[in-house]
Amino acid sequence: MAFDYDLFVIGGGSGGVRAARVAAAEGAKVAIAESSRMGGTCVIRGCVPKKLMVFASSYHESFEDARSYGWDVEDGAFDWNAFSGHLNIELDRLEGVYRSLLDGSNVEIFDSRARLADAHTVELADGTQKTAKHILVATGGRPVRPDMPNAHLGIVSDDIFHLPELPKRLLIIGGGYIACEFACIMNGLGVEVTQFYRGAQILRGFDDEARGLVAEMMREKGINLHLGTNIVDMAEASADHTIPNTSTGTDAAMGAPVAEHAAQATSGSGGPVWVKATNGTEAVYDAVLFATGRNPNTADMGLEEIGVEVGRRGEIVVDEYSQTAVPSIYAIGDVTNRVQLTPVAIREGMAFVETVFKGNPTPIDHDLIPSAIFTQPELGTIGLTEEEAREQEPVEIYCTSFRPMQSAFAGRTDRVLMKLVVAKESRKVLGCHIVAPGAGEMIQLAGIAVKMGATKEDFDRTVAVHPTMSEELVTMKTPMRVA
Ligand code: NDP
Repeated sequence: MAFDYDLFVIGGGSGGVRAARVAAAEGAKVAIAESSRMGGTCVIRGCVPKKLMVFASSYHESFEDARSYGWDVEDGAFDWNAFSGHLNIELDRLEGVYRSLLDGSNVEIFDSRARLADAHTVELADGTQKTAKHILVATGGRPVRPDMPNAHLGIVSDDIFHLPELPKRLLIIGGGYIACEFACIMNGLGVEVTQFYRGAQILRGFDDEARGLVAEMMREKGINLHLGTNIVDMAEASADHTIPNTSTGTDAAMGAPVAEHAAQATSGSGGPVWVKATNGTEAVYDAVLFATGRNPNTADMGLEEIGVEVGRRGEIVVDEYSQTAVPSIYAIGDVTNRVQLTPVAIREGMAFVETVFKGNPTPIDHDLIPSAIFTQPELGTIGLTEEEAREQEPVEIYCTSFRPMQSAFAGRTDRVLMKLVVAKESRKVLGCHIVAPGAGEMIQLAGIAVKMGATKEDFDRTVAVHPTMSEELVTMKTPMRVA
């Protein structure tokens, strides 16, 4: 049977675009459909604009510190409109780059939603059908709000980049990557940030000592972090809003007292929001950000109808080659809910092309993935946490926490952490955890050594680069704990 294409990719994010281009470079006839902007979450409403906001938010401290270094600088005001205007120009440019890369690779672009009609057929929004020998679903994910009344009053991470102005007081719900990153960004931009996390400590799943230090530093920099706390009720705040008699009262550290709210509306969600927390306190915020996880984009895709297995959270179930239960259909990236990271989606896309178009079956390696949380300070991590490693085998923990030179000179009490989790018997470094400015850059390089299976002695054989923070990774002589 003759198909219109060798490959039809649904979703123009990092994974889909990479797979389309690389398959086309192998001589395949390729098409790609994207319902929103080319570039997907990472480029348009995720990693890229987020990182630019991290940079924007870091200047506040830099101005302060510069004075300690002899510079005669005044704190200026942050102009959100100036920044977001520039940001939008940059995102337009990047989207253009993605489109021209696809054009240059002879990938046909359909600016349309697409769904599956059968194992080899894709249907576009206007009803047109296209056939392909292989179909790759790379539709990503989207932020989810908790299932509670009035949740629509809250915003999600997608909305942050389109706020008409910055809220004065922001409540963030969640303790994961997005919640913590935006808490730091907004705090740095001068927003009064309150964060509720339902668990005992933010960043569940990361090394306890590392996340503990991040939480401590976030609080020290002014974020009102409330652990063991969640939102129970929310409503549009209005002048008639009264605090019920049963209330324990308004917590001034958690937003504005209810009486003050009416005159202070600046919300990106349309107006101030009244919130009741699990601890009984009530307060009004200009905006509430739900950073409560992301779900795969699989609704109304025609997947189950044609036999593609979909999991409990709506994820497409795939094997190690990213192949679904329908042999001609593959899926990569966040829509498979394996590891929700851009570089992983790209790897999965490359492995798919290797397997399907280069005749070289390539399973995905999801082991030892380095990653960074762009909090301030950043957390860079690879491998096992101390808690996971202790469960597995006897370990030695090498760890140091100190005030780094640059901020100490400026009179800050900021601390950083360098930590290695080492297998007692094999001497392999099982995990490396760094909390420090630039930890994302550091863990990329330390990650190579850990991925290669380096031992503690390999780290020790490496001469320190002095004076740096990361030199501690090769100079820690005595284990802090043996477990
Ligand atoms: P995460 O899964 O990291 O965090 C979700 C948070 O929301 C958790 O703290 C969770 O609590 C909490 N939560 C979930 N449901 C509720 C609820 N009903 N009420 C209150 N709290 C709730 O998701 P994110 O949205 O932060 O990020 C999604 C993914 O995107 C990440 O997993 C990451 O892979 C990726 N990402 C990566 C970045 C990077 O590499 N720097 C940056 C941003 C995102 P609990 O812990 O108790 O479940």
